[in-house]
Amino acid sequence: MRRCNNMLKIDLHIHSIASGHAFNTVYELAKAAQEKGLEMIGITDHGPAILGGPKKPYFYVTNRVPRKIFGVEVLMGCEANILDNNGLLDLPKELLSTQTIVFAGLHKLTSYTGKSIEYNTQSILGAMKSPYVHAISHPCDMYYFPVDIEKIVKKASEYDIALEINCSRLTRFAHSKEVIEQTKTMIKQAHKHDVKMLISTDAHIASEIGDDSIIDRLNMREIIPKDNILNLSTQAVKKFLDKKNKAKPKFKYYSD
Ligand SMILES: [Zn+2]
Ligand SMILES: [Zn+2]
Repeated sequence: MRRCNNMLKIDLHIHSIASGHAFNTVYELAKAAQEKGLEMIGITDHGPAILGGPKKPYFYVTNRVPRKIFGVEVLMGCEANILDNNGLLDLPKELLSTQTIVFAGLHKLTSYTGKSIEYNTQSILGAMKSPYVHAISHPCDMYYFPVDIEKIVKKASEYDIALEINCSRLTRFAHSKEVIEQTKTMIKQAHKHDVKMLISTDAHIASEIGDDSIIDRLNMREIIPKDNILNLSTQAVKKFLDKKNKAKPKFKYYSD
């Protein structure tokens, strides 16, 4: 099994100041990424359902951000909030369709109230059916939102959705046996079912960009199959996103 190197060259889950609880602008984030030697970043601000989050019109103009800033490729997208067990997302499809990369995830500080494993699993499975969703953020968040990870991996294989190894969550829940075990199970199952994974920082401040050192601190590096990690080459990322983006329904106008 080929192993991954330390420090990400591509970090696709980063929050800007627009999220309402993060600290840097898109330009500051791109500058930090350049200084750290990253090639590509994804700016994926929370959908509007999170407390203090951006309003819908923000996502209407994300496509006006330059594709390259300070030499770093910038993918503008969102981290949509899943709101119920049908997988309802907090952005309309017209706006989801214009985002270059879309994560979907379960979050506190939204109206989501799921608690049981069954309910949370159904919620994520529902969101995966959306043609606009590329990846599920922090599916191993057993602390707040326990899920049946095997079901999620199988559905990810069916719908060609990437699953995230979230460095922020691993750092925050490094003490939680459940979170660590769930992450290891997801990695093994993803390898078995040939599902792509993204290692991302979920950075909320520029200094966190690209730092995946928690994976080493938890001795998890050797169990991560390199061939299943999508964000090791910009080409692989683009190919994965393009395939989905070409297939998704498009809308000429958005009015709300
Ligand atoms: Zn999140
Ligand atoms: Zn996030």
